[in-house]
Amino acid sequence: MASIYDRHVDLERFMEGVKKRNPGQTEFIQAVQEVAQDIFAFIEDKEEYHEAQILRRIAEPDRVVSFRVCWEDDNHNIRVQRGWRVQNNNAIGPYKGGIRFHSSVNESVLKFLAFEQTFKNSLTGLPMGGGKGGANFNPKGKSDAEVMRFCQSFMTELYRHIGPDTDVPAGDIGVGAREIGYMFGQYKRITNRWEGVLTGKGMEYGGSQMRPEATGYGAVYFLRNVLEHAGQDVEGKTAVISGSGNVATHAAEKIVQLGGKVLAMSDSGGFIHDPQGIDQDRIDWIKHHKTHTRGRISDYADEFDGATFHEGERPWHVAADLALPCATQNELDESDAKALVENGCIAVSEGANMPTTLEGVKVFHDAKVMYAPGKAANAGGVAVSGLEMSQNSERISWNHERLGEMLTELMEGIHSKCVEYGEQDEGYVDYVKGANIAGFKKVADAMLAFGVV
Ligand code: NDP
Repeated sequence: MASIYDRHVDLERFMEGVKKRNPGQTEFIQAVQEVAQDIFAFIEDKEEYHEAQILRRIAEPDRVVSFRVCWEDDNHNIRVQRGWRVQNNNAIGPYKGGIRFHSSVNESVLKFLAFEQTFKNSLTGLPMGGGKGGANFNPKGKSDAEVMRFCQSFMTELYRHIGPDTDVPAGDIGVGAREIGYMFGQYKRITNRWEGVLTGKGMEYGGSQMRPEATGYGAVYFLRNVLEHAGQDVEGKTAVISGSGNVATHAAEKIVQLGGKVLAMSDSGGFIHDPQGIDQDRIDWIKHHKTHTRGRISDYADEFDGATFHEGERPWHVAADLALPCATQNELDESDAKALVENGCIAVSEGANMPTTLEGVKVFHDAKVMYAPGKAANAGGVAVSGLEMSQNSERISWNHERLGEMLTELMEGIHSKCVEYGEQDEGYVDYVKGANIAGFKKVADAMLAFGVV
C-alpha cells in the first residue's frame, strides 16, 4: 500500500520543519542548516537513510534537561540561574561535551553546540556521543567562594543526569580548571564515588596531560595539515587570533613554536595589535593576566610598547596570512571575511565553535581560501578528553610526549577523513562538507543498526 508520508522532502521543506519545531532558536537552526545542506546531497541516492529518517532524528536532541540553580552571593543575596544539559545523540558512545558559563547561554546555543559536538566527536574516531551544557551564569567579577557555591549548586542537580558511561561533561567558555575542580568535588561528595565523570580535571586527581593545550594545539596541527596538503607551511606566516582564553593562547603558542608570527588577539572588550609579534613571553603574560589576575586584554597595550588596543573591535581587519577565530560563535561575519580575503588571508582554522557566519563561510569558499570548520579543527580538545576517559577507566596516565603524539595522529586522521569526503575537482578541499559527511556517516550507520529507537 502506498504511503502518504513523504520520506524524500527537499532541503527547504526539511528546514521549514526544523524552524517550526524550534521557534526562535537561531543558533540551532543555523547549525542544522549548515550540516543539512551537505548531507542532503550525500544521502540523495541512499534509500536506507531516508527510510529511517536519520537526519530528522539527529536534528532532534535525545533529551534537554533544564533546571534551577540557586546560590547565595557574598552579600547574602539569593540568586537564581538556569542550568541545562542537552544530550543530543549517544549512538556511538556516552554523551560528551563541555559546560559553558556565560550570560549569553540559552537553550538554542546549547542545542547548536550539542548538535555540532555529535559530528565532531564522531570525526575523532573515538567512541563518544554528543552533548553540551551550561548556565546563564557569568563567573567574571565573582569571588572564588561565589564561583564555588554556584558550581556546587549546579552539580547538585546535574549529577543525576551524568556518569562515566552515560554522559561525561568537560570545560568550555567560563569553565576552566577551577570550575571543574569545584564540580568534581561536589559530584564525589554526593555520590561517594571517584569516577571519570568530568574531563579537564587537575593533574592531581585524574586529569590528562596535554588536555589544557589540546584544543588550541590541535587547531594549529589541523591548520598545518591543511597547508601541507596545499604544499605550504606555517613557518614565516603571520596570524590573527580572536580570544585570549584557553583555546586562543594555546593556538598562539603553537603558531609561534612552528615559526609563525601572531599579530593580534582579543577578548570581549576589543583586540590588541602588536606588530612586533606576540612571542612566548607575551603569551605567558596574557595567560597569567587573563586566568589568574582575571584582567582585560586592553592592559596588554599598557604593558608592551608598540602595541595598540582597539576597543569594541574584532581583529579581522589586521592583514595576516592566517586567521584563527578562537573566542565564540558568530564572531566573524561576511564583512570580516571579505576584509581577510582582501588582505591576503590564505587559510582559516576555527578554534571556537561556529565562529564564522554562513555568509562568511561562503566568502571563504568563493575565494578558495582554505577554511577549516570548528567541528574538525577544534576536535583535538574532545579527542584528548576521550583519552582522559580511557586513562581514568584503566587507572593509568600517559605522559605529555605520548599524548602529544596521539593528538598529532588524531588530527591527521580527522584531516584525512575531511579530504576523503570533501576534495573537489581542482584539488580544493571543502572541509565543511568533508567533516559533515564523515561525521554523519558513522553516527547514521550506528543508528541504522539499532532500528527504530
Ligand atoms: P575561555 O573562557 O577560556 O575564553 C573565551 C575567550 O573568548 C575569552 O577571551 C573571552 O573574552 C572571549 N569571548 C567570549 N565571548 C566573547 C564575545 N561575545 N565576543 C568576543 N570575545 C568573546 O573559553 P575557551 O578558550 O575554552 O573557548 C573558546 C571557544 O572554543 C568557544 O567557542 C568554545 O566552545 C570552543 N572550544 C573550546 C574547547 C576547549 O577545550 N576549551 C574545545 C572545543 C571548542 P572575555 O575574557 O572578555 O570573556
